[in-house]
Amino acid sequence: MRGMVYHGPGKTNWEEKPRPPLQESTDAIVRITTSTICGSDLHILKGDVPGVVDGRVLGHEAVGMVEEIGAGVQTFKKGDKVLVSCITSCAKCDFCRKSMYSHCRHGGWILGHLIDGTQAEYARIPYADTSLYSLPQDADEEALVMLSDIFPTGFECGVLNGKVQPGDSVAIVGSGPVGLAALLTAQLFSPAQLILIDQDENRLRVAKSLGATHTINSAGGKTAEIVLALTGGQGADAVIEAIGLPATFELCQALVAPGGRIANIGVHGKSATLHLETLWSRNITLTTQLVDTATTPLLLKAVLSGRIDPKKLVTHRFALSDAGKAYDTFSNAAREKALKVILSTR
Ligand SMILES: [Zn+2]
Ligand SMILES: [Zn+2]
Repeated sequence: MRGMVYHGPGKTNWEEKPRPPLQESTDAIVRITTSTICGSDLHILKGDVPGVVDGRVLGHEAVGMVEEIGAGVQTFKKGDKVLVSCITSCAKCDFCRKSMYSHCRHGGWILGHLIDGTQAEYARIPYADTSLYSLPQDADEEALVMLSDIFPTGFECGVLNGKVQPGDSVAIVGSGPVGLAALLTAQLFSPAQLILIDQDENRLRVAKSLGATHTINSAGGKTAEIVLALTGGQGADAVIEAIGLPATFELCQALVAPGGRIANIGVHGKSATLHLETLWSRNITLTTQLVDTATTPLLLKAVLSGRIDPKKLVTHRFALSDAGKAYDTFSNAAREKALKVILSTR
């Protein structure tokens, strides 16, 4: 088979690899039909994720067909259409029993990280019964592949941790794919204001078309003043950080209302200042989380019923074998106006 293989910082190649065999009785082999590239794949390419070794097949998001199952797999059979979760869960360890699948003792984020991933013609999925989700045969793969990672991430780490409620003011810092997934899923709770903040005018336009009530280009340097003016001087009830820089994390602290919540989603590579000198008396809550994908069944129902449409984030489509071109496009997201790029075998 062929796959997108990592060969050290800045180096990837679409190349021949042996098709992964079953290793454990709980494994399934999935023939990948749709995959996509994540911001964390770009972090890997920069060399920021030391667990990824030379020779690793990248990718942790996919829809595909079950090709082969181990003797212990009970839920799936050959030919089933499935969603691959970015988080592998044994469902039995202490963390899994607390629904913290991202910290699974035997899984967590391993695909395209510690084991070969999904930007390939075939992938081995450990603990298939609890790491794959059944899809209808006629499912819209481009919409559903967004549920491997970015929709559970935006929803769990942003919207649920931010405790978005009807009538709330919500500020989302970052209008990339994950910030936009938070924007779309926040609307399930009918907030009064959805304020999207970014420096990319195109992404702000997209946010507006997806339901943002206000957009702010933070390059102007007046973001906090504008948010305070929009919220009667109070600030936002829920502030969602979807970028992962010290400056954006500090901005969130300037936007939060008394009693409000700051929900961090961003992957931070550097320390950032927590302004306790202003926040200690403001009754705020700060949350951090690696996505557990515990809400994937709920999100599947919301997509299949038409309540949310993740396909709106798809901007580019490539054949899986053109993964190299897709990486080039996604790495230049601002210039290419790219949000999510689809890799497909059809
Ligand atoms: Zn991802
Ligand atoms: Zn586990």
